[in-house]
Amino acid sequence: MQDMSQALNFGKSVADNGWGMFNAFLSYKLADQGKQFVKIDKWYPSSKTCHICGDIYKELQLSERTWTCPKCNTMHNRDDNASVNIKNKGLEMLSA
Ligand SMILES: [Zn+2]
Repeated sequence: MQDMSQALNFGKSVADNGWGMFNAFLSYKLADQGKQFVKIDKWYPSSKTCHICGDIYKELQLSERTWTCPKCNTMHNRDDNASVNIKNKGLEMLSA
């Protein structure tokens, strides 16, 4: 959304409104299907947290697309690992 608003010379508020609107539509569509919309903390370290052992690899750089957990030695694809963590965090919040 940020890149789109900059490319089209829209202000920050348009990007914020666009994202808010996307969340509202998604929430509505999910509710329509009997599903729940769960928002996790934007600062949750989903990329840096090993989804196998829970260790947080604080040194992870944005340029590192794959990394190996220093604690359990599991090799992760950055985005696949983050998606598993986000799913698990959402399920954890639903069960709380
Ligand atoms: Zn690990």
